[in-house]
Amino acid sequence: MTIAFKEIVSSVPEVSCSNCQACCCRLEVMIITDTGVPLQYIDYDQWGAETMLRLDDGWCAAVDRETLMCTIYENRPLICREFEMGSYECEDERRDMA
Ligand code: SF4
Ligand code: SF4
Repeated sequence: MTIAFKEIVSSVPEVSCSNCQACCCRLEVMIITDTGVPLQYIDYDQWGAETMLRLDDGWCAAVDRETLMCTIYENRPLICREFEMGSYECEDERRDMA
């Protein structure tokens, strides 16, 4: 019984940004504080509020398509900073893209 449980646990991939397809970087990200996001990555929603620009496939324009890493990490919006790896929302996004 214990061994079977361990086998199940070890077959579940660890939740980590390093084994993720940048799933949360397809969400709409509002820019609510000034963190220095470069202008070319800023878009405006229907109410005129600043958001991260998303490309036709839904991904944030600041995602590096080779590495799937954030190219403006030091200047990423507050919402991106607060999106916690392993949180319910994170696991939800990973599940949706699986
Ligand atoms: S926070 Fe979660 S959803 Fe976002 S890149 Fe990391 S593992 Fe993927
Ligand atoms: S700014 Fe960076 S962390 Fe935030 S959604 Fe875009 S690529 Fe992801």
